[in-house]
Amino acid sequence: MAEKKMAKMAVLKGPNHLDIESFPLPEVKDDGMLIKIEATSICGSDAHSIRSTPAQPSPLGHEFTGKIVEMGERANETIYSFSGPLKVGDRIAVYPWITCGTCPECMRHGNGVCMVCENAFMYGGQETFGHSKYTADAYEVPHFKGGFAEYVYIFPGTYVWKLPEDMPSEIASLLDPLAVCARAIEMAQTEPGVLGESLNTNTNAVVIGEGAIGIMTAMLLKIMGCRNVILTGHKDEKLKKAQEISRCDYVINSNKMEKEERFRYIREITDGGPDLVIQCANNTRASIEGLELVRKLGTYVEVGVPFGFGETFEVELPQLIFSKNVKINSLASNSQRVFDKAFHLLERYQEFPFEKLLTHKFYSLEELMPTMQKMRDVDYIKGVMILK
Ligand SMILES: [Zn+2]
Ligand SMILES: [Zn+2]
Repeated sequence: MAEKKMAKMAVLKGPNHLDIESFPLPEVKDDGMLIKIEATSICGSDAHSIRSTPAQPSPLGHEFTGKIVEMGERANETIYSFSGPLKVGDRIAVYPWITCGTCPECMRHGNGVCMVCENAFMYGGQETFGHSKYTADAYEVPHFKGGFAEYVYIFPGTYVWKLPEDMPSEIASLLDPLAVCARAIEMAQTEPGVLGESLNTNTNAVVIGEGAIGIMTAMLLKIMGCRNVILTGHKDEKLKKAQEISRCDYVINSNKMEKEERFRYIREITDGGPDLVIQCANNTRASIEGLELVRKLGTYVEVGVPFGFGETFEVELPQLIFSKNVKINSLASNSQRVFDKAFHLLERYQEFPFEKLLTHKFYSLEELMPTMQKMRDVDYIKGVMILK
């Protein structure tokens, strides 16, 4: 019998303990697919993951794109493609969640909605939920369940998009973070003409956070036609780049302007306060500031990772929120439907400078950890592994 071909994959074992290991390529079942990774981006959440202790050796990476190298006979019936039937050689981007479709939450919200399904699986995740059909165990066949690997096994029930011929794989690896931004903006939308209408050509918006999510959110707000978009952050160099990419109207370095002065300046630009604040900075203090800043009848969207980081604050709810008639949203769930919107935005990559977000390109699994150590560098926006 011919020896099975081996391939490499990053395996997370404990805090800052990531091994590159080899496993035999799995047999492709008639309802599955095997893709060869072309590009995988580092998510902010990956940085939290590598500081944690997974319950078992786990895969890593959920923002990936690859080329189909093998397909089961029934794969076109069991894998949901937004781009019609697929064939070997096609490159695909992937919705990283597989939900069960039958639990009470899936019945209520529809199949595919993540963070609510009771039995969900996530590619590149360190845990699964309830009675997920697949495990997050890297040692369990088919091993290749995360994007930081040479291959990924695509299970039935996965939602995918076929990349147009000219679209670079590394651009497509931005699908997941851009879908987060698209969802944030969806949450801000109201019917036109209502009290507190939040998104129109006269909207003044503040985006807090100069990371990839903050930058792309500001970019989308400009694409949607907002009057003024103000982006706040902490590093001049980053803010300069953020403005160049997002085409936002103003950037503010919060380290260089005291809170009172900053508020006065923002209120001046926004005729009394922003109609919309989108908080992308993963910081509870910034959340409170955002709520203080938003104007009466305004809209606030919290995008930060919804776990908190152990900090607690006391706030005056009546003064901070109730008195303002503010619409408050928190983003934790997303769906393949929003990813589809984001995918079509990425298809317009020649119009918008998504490419400039990819500041740290690397070309082997071995460079993953060294690149992740640069995530706090002033010139870092997003790292992407490119394997071609
Ligand atoms: Zn992500
Ligand atoms: Zn479910």
